[in-house]
Amino acid sequence: MFDQTAQSVAYQKLNLDAAVSVTVKRLDQIHPQISGNKFFKLKYNFLEAKQQGLNKVLTFGGAYSNHIAATAYAAHLFGFKSVGIIRGEELARKALNPTLATAQQFGMQLHFVSREQYRQKDQPEYLTELRQQFPEHFMIPEGGTNPLAIQGCKEILNAEDLQNYDVICCAVGTGGTLAGIIEASSGHQKVLGFSALKGDFLQRDVQQWTNKQNWQITDAYCCGGYAKTTPELLQFIQSFEAKHSIPLEQVYTAKMMSGLFDLIEQNYFPKDTRILLIHTGGLQGRHAG
Ligand SMILES: *Cc1c(COP(=O)(O)O)cnc(C)c1O
Repeated sequence: MFDQTAQSVAYQKLNLDAAVSVTVKRLDQIHPQISGNKFFKLKYNFLEAKQQGLNKVLTFGGAYSNHIAATAYAAHLFGFKSVGIIRGEELARKALNPTLATAQQFGMQLHFVSREQYRQKDQPEYLTELRQQFPEHFMIPEGGTNPLAIQGCKEILNAEDLQNYDVICCAVGTGGTLAGIIEASSGHQKVLGFSALKGDFLQRDVQQWTNKQNWQITDAYCCGGYAKTTPELLQFIQSFEAKHSIPLEQVYTAKMMSGLFDLIEQNYFPKDTRILLIHTGGLQGRHAG
């Protein structure tokens, strides 16, 4: 499956009454479980795990995490074992939600930890503990963002994308996907990230992965924070889907799309700007929050 490249992904130009053009790159169509950007983020991580002779991957996520779903499925497909460290020990006593049930079906061993414990996920002591508890694993950080993920995300853009568009838009969680797109982008292009979370920390997070300057992140459309939503956003999804027949979810892609529409309405972009919007998928987690 990792042989599949972004070359085969469909482009859909939106029918808009606007002075700019918007084309959607449908990474959501790559696969229902490994949708969109997660495919690119995992690719080199799995290849590296294999290289190191490891047959188990371990990663971290919340109960609705697209990254958990994608990792479980990729592991299943490539014959790896997988362990998911899941935030929220109370979840162990509840029925699994669709994301976790699917992950478990694909063979992921779910390990529920308290929020306090989960916050230790970057601390060496905790990682050592996990290494003892789950020996011989290849660790992928929360959200899947590491240098190998960014290497993979550079492959989201192809040569035509660099030629045919002036602005590239992408939804932002950890910023790994955006960093890969920035690294691949051409100097004349501008890369715009629409954050699903509130806060300035993402600016620094992305800066550590790139020296380029042709990008910007806004959190103005995050609807108050991660997995938060508003009646307006839900309404936007309904009317967008009815008009353009492209599915959106409320955690990432709808915030990006509604943000872009707002900027277009404010005449933020010069006339005839050619905008490429990366649809990062995430539809497995549609009912998150
Ligand atoms: C994970 C995810 C993102 C964010 O990717 P990052 O690399 O963490 O910024 C965006 N959109 C969707 C649908 C996702 O699942």
